[in-house]
Amino acid sequence: MAIHNFYAGPSIIDASILETASNAIRSREDLLSVIEISHRSVRFGEIMEEARSLVRELAQLDDDFEVLFLQGGGRQQFFQVPFNLLNFNQVAYYINTGSWAKQAMHEASFFGKAEAIASSESTNFNFIPKSAPVPENAAYLHITTNNTIYGTQFHDIPSVDAPLVADMSSDIFCRPLDYNRFGLVYAATQKNAGTAGATIVMVRKSILKKAPGSIPTMVDYQTHIKKQSLYNTPPTFAVYMSLLTLRWLKASGGLSHFVQHNEAKSNAIYAEIDRNSMFVGHALKEDRSIMNAVFTFTPEVNQVRENDFVAFCEARNIIGLKGHSSVGGFRASMYNALPLESVNALVDTMQDFEKQFG
Ligand SMILES: *Cc1c(COP(=O)(O)O)cnc(C)c1O
Repeated sequence: MAIHNFYAGPSIIDASILETASNAIRSREDLLSVIEISHRSVRFGEIMEEARSLVRELAQLDDDFEVLFLQGGGRQQFFQVPFNLLNFNQVAYYINTGSWAKQAMHEASFFGKAEAIASSESTNFNFIPKSAPVPENAAYLHITTNNTIYGTQFHDIPSVDAPLVADMSSDIFCRPLDYNRFGLVYAATQKNAGTAGATIVMVRKSILKKAPGSIPTMVDYQTHIKKQSLYNTPPTFAVYMSLLTLRWLKASGGLSHFVQHNEAKSNAIYAEIDRNSMFVGHALKEDRSIMNAVFTFTPEVNQVRENDFVAFCEARNIIGLKGHSSVGGFRASMYNALPLESVNALVDTMQDFEKQFG
């Protein structure tokens, strides 16, 4: 029986990628397995180069951009971004759409001034604040394009003069986007771009103004640009998994294919949330994420507990639905690799649950 994997991250990976990766680990046809070779070998150099160039190609980046594979996940970028882009006499602005943005803003405060220019905190982050005018002298504006916890997503990317920095950890490559509008994009790879262990960074060289050598070597983007992501030992297996994922993205039809696929899934789940008398969506309709659907029981439901619905789903091999503790309820994460059949199985289960307990 099929398993339906709705985990928020690390999360579902296409079966063909798992197959290729497991063969590559076991196989010593090229003399050594892919995970027992030096990062200085020609073979790994090619893996890194192809991964970087596929990111460039999928995002259609212009020549000013560099693509890096770094470590430390999303959270390292929370401080690496201000370390590289914020001076003590400057202000960095953040749109506060929930805990990721808040943590990122807190880290920036170690390097300069960090201020929320707009926030949806007063309504438990159920919407994306729009039209936030950014002062002229801003170091940058930081947004979290998709809030994984609250199920909100920017559908319109703000226009600003300051460099626009985006945490795309939970929605990178889920849709076509004008990546050239950004100064810097980062994404931990464990949700939509491979497995845990690497972070993709796309950065415009022209926004890196701090003098080379003025910040610690390992956190200086210039170090990794100069050495093409091979300054230190990169997480070679995680980079390889990202490469397989990027190849699969391209071969499956690219970002225009995936936005259709992702919208078909999110339309199906939101239609059921809106129809079903037992459930209500957390985010405002216009700001709903196509990656993470967050929903709770309606206030009228009192004969069953949240864990009952989670167990009802698990009995049908629907896994990973428990919501994040700051919202409660349920979260269906529907990353690129999740098939539409899994969402259909969840919709059927919600209908059966309503028949039995509604
Ligand atoms: C998962 C996630 C992160 C955190 O990534 P770590 O690799 O655990 O540090 C950051 N931002 C967003 C939006 C995420 O969804």
